[in-house]
Amino acid sequence: MSLSPLDVATPAYRQDEEFSIFADSVGKFLDRHMPPERVDEFRRQKCVPRHIWELAGQNGLLGLSIPEEYGGHGGDYRHEAILQEEIGRRGIEGWDIALHNGIVAPYLVDYGSEEQKKRILPKMVSGEYISAICMTEPGAGSDVQSIRTSAIRNGEHYVLNGSKIFITNGQTANLLLVAAKTDPNERARGISMVLVETDHVEGFRRGQNLDKAGRDLADTSELFFDNVKIPAENLLGENEGRGFGQMMESLPQERLNIAVQECAAIEFALRITIEYVKERKAFGKRILDFQNTEFRLAEMKTDATVAKIFVDHCIEEHIHGRLDSTKASMAKYWLSELNGKIVDQCLQFFGGYGFMNEYPITRAWRDARVTRIYAGTTEVMKLLIARSI
Ligand SMILES: Cc1cc2nc3c(=O)[nH]c(=O)nc-3n(C[C@H](O)[C@H](O)[C@H](O)COP(=O)(O)OP(=O)(O)OC[C@H]3O[C@@H](n4cnc5c(N)ncnc54)[C@H](O)[C@@H]3O)c2cc1C
Repeated sequence: MSLSPLDVATPAYRQDEEFSIFADSVGKFLDRHMPPERVDEFRRQKCVPRHIWELAGQNGLLGLSIPEEYGGHGGDYRHEAILQEEIGRRGIEGWDIALHNGIVAPYLVDYGSEEQKKRILPKMVSGEYISAICMTEPGAGSDVQSIRTSAIRNGEHYVLNGSKIFITNGQTANLLLVAAKTDPNERARGISMVLVETDHVEGFRRGQNLDKAGRDLADTSELFFDNVKIPAENLLGENEGRGFGQMMESLPQERLNIAVQECAAIEFALRITIEYVKERKAFGKRILDFQNTEFRLAEMKTDATVAKIFVDHCIEEHIHGRLDSTKASMAKYWLSELNGKIVDQCLQFFGGYGFMNEYPITRAWRDARVTRIYAGTTEVMKLLIARSI
């Protein structure tokens, strides 16, 4: 049975049989190791346990696009997108393997030293290292240039002080990519990215697993750095002050990730809603048979189809190195807003059941809300798009 209710042809750049075989193997992994009842258990624990990450590593799902010379699978963004689609279409939103594979790993691949790549990337592939990216602070979210966490060079070390908030994988991660000021007197030019291997440092502390309104599968935390000494070679890139530029170059892929995930989340919401309205009856007929339902579903299927074609186009642009910040921002803003609207309308068709936490549509509705906020809010996306006008 197809997990997508859309009838969009597989784009040309993904027609090679390799990709359908890969999608099939990801699906088999998820169906075997993350069936709905297990996922519910993980949601109650508010975290995907480490052994699942390690299993994902053993089954070749971590480090998909890390080059083979560093122990990775030598794939590209197509593999990352397929992984996110298979997760999203099953309603497993919140397991942030995409952040590990598609955000943190590329920083190392693109900017890391040879020593960092050889030492760290194989551990990201096996699951020995689970990663997180730490930009946001209690006093600085959208305005990342105002971060206050500092990493001050002292001989052969950097000394890290400050705190980060809302960090995805924050309870699990033992590899942190931290945005910090190596020159606190500067704004963007003072920012560097540094790697913190938490098993090997003192002065690092995790706050509680934060109590969120959705995305229960993700552990999200505040992190504290109190005179944490890290080796000087854990600076990302050769020189200090490159962090802001590295972030700006990497954000298009992070934003595309959200668009890919939201597209899959829309497919999930539509599929389970269509199944429901075909079963549930009122006034002697199926909910589907009311013209209001047909028209709404027709509108949503149209919107979702347009969205899918746009996201496929963005993926193609990205694999050819042409996805710019404007288009990535459009994709992130528009898909996250669209998912919010569609999942809210889908929930309406479930009546009172749609407000019960045990229903997948309810969870999808809760999970959707934050996507308009994280990885750059809708307002910030519009600012970036407006710059191109
Ligand atoms: C579940 C979750 C997971 C997250 N995961 C991570 C993570 O892994 N790593 C990480 O670093 N961060 C993470 N974040 C943080 C997230 O990226 C920030 O919350 C987001 O960037 C917004 O920052 P803020 O919360 O400080 O809001 P603020 O920046 O304070 O914004 C508040 C409001 O003001 C608006 N606003 C701000 N500036 C402007 C402007 N110039 N023009 C118009 N409106 C503006 C915003 O759009 C927003 O509506 C996560 C957040 C959540 C909730």
